[in-house]
Amino acid sequence: MTDEVEIPEDHPRYQSLLTRHRIEEGVEKGITSKQGLIAEGRGESFDYLLGEETLPSADAAERAAAAQLLLAEHAVLSVNGNVAALVPGETVALAEATGADIEVNLFGRTEERMRAIADHLREHGATNVKGLAADARIPGLEHERGKVDEDGIYDADVVLVPLEDGDRAEALGEMGKTEIVIDLNPLSRSPRTAAIPIIDNIIRAVPNVTEHARDLADASRDELEAIVADFDREAVLDDAERAIRDV
Ligand code: ATP
Ligand code: MG
Repeated sequence: MTDEVEIPEDHPRYQSLLTRHRIEEGVEKGITSKQGLIAEGRGESFDYLLGEETLPSADAAERAAAAQLLLAEHAVLSVNGNVAALVPGETVALAEATGADIEVNLFGRTEERMRAIADHLREHGATNVKGLAADARIPGLEHERGKVDEDGIYDADVVLVPLEDGDRAEALGEMGKTEIVIDLNPLSRSPRTAAIPIIDNIIRAVPNVTEHARDLADASRDELEAIVADFDREAVLDDAERAIRDV
């Protein structure tokens, strides 16, 4: 066990240290996998190159994501081990602000980890956590990796899949779902297949989507549809790539 670490808030890399600490705790609690630990390292390197802040283009994607979630007939927020460790309460707040369901969906599915994540989300205020029934499949993925809930991701028209693997993002897209992907790597296949790619750290992205959703709570369908229609996914991917190359 690691000791409780006190991270001084004025440390120049406070957020990065906090993130590492949360992921480390996630591994200790059986929420995050060792693969997830490696994925975090990949994410951090991109965040460093992006200046560890939300680009204006990412903020536009976060606003479009909020509009898309509010327009959805049935939106689902997909949660894996990294998401659960990094933004459990923030994910619950986003679900509440948009009326979305929360579903645990793991690349390396084990029943223990599914349960640990569901419990962790409930500790952070989630009342209904899906993913444990696993009574439907995403076509085109092998058995374990394709398991989803029939009344959850399988039924959804809009899915938020943060830190998702490229294959699964593609398979969900082929099912006709509108995908919102949060991923710090603009070259990764997952954001490249998304209708709305958010190139930002999940730690900043999820609360910001929630803030936009609250701001848009009284907007008309026409206004929401206009935000989604005006959103330019290529511009978001290009802008992040340019920000990285121009470091
Ligand atoms: P592929 O190109 O097939 O998508 P990958 O290298 O992206 O492979 P995955 O394990 O599929 O690997 O995806 C993990 C993704 O999550 C990486 O692209 C990484 O940049 C991103 N990531 C990790 N931590 C964060 C974070 N805190 N916020 C946002 N994105 C993150
Ligand atoms: Mg990826």
